[in-house]
Amino acid sequence: MVINFAAGPAKLPEEVLKEVQANLLNCNGSGISVMEMSHRSSNYGKIQEAAIADLRELLNVPQNYKILLMQGGGTGQFAASALNLIGSTGTADYVITGSWSAKAAKEAAQYGKVNAVLPKLESYTTVPRQSTWKLDPNASYVYYCDNETVEGVEFDFVPEVKVPLVCDMSSNFLSRPIDVSKFGMIYAGAQKNIGPAGVTVIIVREDLIGKHLKVTPSILNFELMDKNSSLLNTPPTFGIYVMGLVFKWIKANGGIAGMSERAKAKSQLIYNIIDKSNGFYYCPVQTQVRSRMNVPFRIGSSAGNEQLEKEFLAKAEAEGMIQLKGHRSVGGIRASLYNAITLDETQKLAKLMLAFYENNKN
Ligand code: PLP
Repeated sequence: MVINFAAGPAKLPEEVLKEVQANLLNCNGSGISVMEMSHRSSNYGKIQEAAIADLRELLNVPQNYKILLMQGGGTGQFAASALNLIGSTGTADYVITGSWSAKAAKEAAQYGKVNAVLPKLESYTTVPRQSTWKLDPNASYVYYCDNETVEGVEFDFVPEVKVPLVCDMSSNFLSRPIDVSKFGMIYAGAQKNIGPAGVTVIIVREDLIGKHLKVTPSILNFELMDKNSSLLNTPPTFGIYVMGLVFKWIKANGGIAGMSERAKAKSQLIYNIIDKSNGFYYCPVQTQVRSRMNVPFRIGSSAGNEQLEKEFLAKAEAEGMIQLKGHRSVGGIRASLYNAITLDETQKLAKLMLAFYENNKN
């Protein structure tokens, strides 16, 4: 058996994949695969509408927020968020706490003035408290990334700001309850917690729609997407279908509260082993903001012993645990524990970590 700890594209719930398989050649009695359906057909329309309705229910999305399904992934939204929202003042605040928010800020700087709220951090291992932030009173919005996938840094608070809050939730979407009304816009690429790569979810407050810059490409234009019910052009139909099944799976498995409890239990299990290993395992992230989704750690020392890390990865692979290698920019190990990873699977990783510690500690 293989356990996939990838950071994304990542594991999908087995029940969902089985349902996809069972309906692959005949989707909902249509006699054809969902991949062959016209995106204008009523059969497909029902699939897309159900996915949006289930998401609205799961997150309690208020009626004055629109849910858009777009393409272009998180990177597309680095541009789209700026193109659609920076126009009112031409300036935006960016809270850079990791690689992805840094990339988003760089992209936005093509379309307006970007104010870095924090002094450049030496390493991405913390989230400076909001009292230290230098917000620009002229900003159109404040942008942050709720969970930095590469470094394993997750916000433990929702910023309180006077302008719309824009948040990249690509790697912790639907893993804990959120109050949508605190945000101007939330977005998430699907390929971590909610489905296959190719579809991106946008939740945006109605009054922020229609303020895009003139140069905004139609494909990234919230107003056009909204007016066309996310069917401006051919959407990623298969991805939306699978995502809809994931939403149903979440509903059947305790909803967001259920996902949140599981995320806490799974990540705590691994962090406890790290913390009790007398430095054999080392996680550089400040305890308070350690990610429940992506657990990065080094082995042997805080800088990592590459030989030991190689051995650990080989042992894991031999036991069917794959894609545990840390991001190339930080090295070491990264265990991604998205919604589809079970507690049982996390326990297997925990067992390996304990055995490896016993065999290699000095
Ligand atoms: N934001 C976060 C938090 C991510 O983890 C990623 C990708 O891993 C991205 C944005 C970029 O997403 P994409 O590859 O879909 O453009």
